[in-house]
Amino acid sequence: MKLLVTGGAGYVGSVVAALLWETGHEVVVLDDLSTGHADACPDGVRLVQGTLRERAHDVLAEGGYDGVLHFAAKSLVGESVADPAKYWDGNLGESLALFDAMRAAGVARIVFSSTAAVYGDPETVPIVEDSPTRPTNPYGATKLAIDNVLAEYARLHGFGGVSLRYFNVAGAFGGFGERHAVETHLIPTVLGVALGARDEVPVFGEDYPTADGTCVRDYVHVIDLARAHLLALDACAPGVHRVYNLGSGAGYSVREVVEVCRAVTGHPIPMTVLPRRAGDPGTLLASSEAIRDDLGWTVEHDLTAMVEDAWKFALGGRR
Ligand code: UDP
Repeated sequence: MKLLVTGGAGYVGSVVAALLWETGHEVVVLDDLSTGHADACPDGVRLVQGTLRERAHDVLAEGGYDGVLHFAAKSLVGESVADPAKYWDGNLGESLALFDAMRAAGVARIVFSSTAAVYGDPETVPIVEDSPTRPTNPYGATKLAIDNVLAEYARLHGFGGVSLRYFNVAGAFGGFGERHAVETHLIPTVLGVALGARDEVPVFGEDYPTADGTCVRDYVHVIDLARAHLLALDACAPGVHRVYNLGSGAGYSVREVVEVCRAVTGHPIPMTVLPRRAGDPGTLLASSEAIRDDLGWTVEHDLTAMVEDAWKFALGGRR
């Protein structure tokens, strides 16, 4: 297939672009490089630099596209609380421009990078797809709005869409990994301590109702996640919008993650307990039964594999 990957110079987008390219697809990346990196765009893949508003129309108008994988987004929860308009415009506004361009070019197949943040603080875990959606920050709210637009465009304009709601993505693949200017995610932060970039891991709260008092999250390897996108692409059906959660179904506490990082790196990795981070739910766990049953997706990598690959990337696997 000929595919447009928006945000293909970012973390998940670059891994999916690499996998698509390796499996024989023609891939064009559209990315404004505001947070992505030009060298994260896989060799053999054309990079068009620009926002969706600026370039989606003319890129898709070249013709021949079979579908779009849409990753381009602003994704910092804290920033979204400080500047919600940036998120409504940057996520929903830019996505509407992309969808207009798709309609103009007659491209109806889309896989969208959504998030567990649409569920907010869940009443029950594991979270299933029809759990209540009550995002607790503008980031999650904008992603939910885009899911809703896709559902309507399926009904009204014949789009065939799949929204994949990611839980905690980790690991690296083929030289493509996580590198953010501002690092807030747990695993890169912990590995940053092992690398000497910081002295200790800030543990945000140990008074949660979990076994060791620290937050429990559902980590999924980026390559397992990427494979789900290929399955979703094949499953797109005109007029239908589907939603799938993507997690491994296994929960790890912050302390357990640090333990695995110690074992992988051989570094003592000191921790310091700080107050809770605003808006962090105690436990987030996905039920990924739906995508397993419908599309045959399976998880092949555990937390140790994620940390090993993230560590290799941190040590110099980066491009
Ligand atoms: N966390 C932490 N210290 C850090 C970064 C994260 O204790 O430096 C905790 C955070 O409170 C959450 C978990 O680790 O419970 C995962 O956080 P991350 O930001 O990686 O992902 P989130 O679940 O917030 O999307």
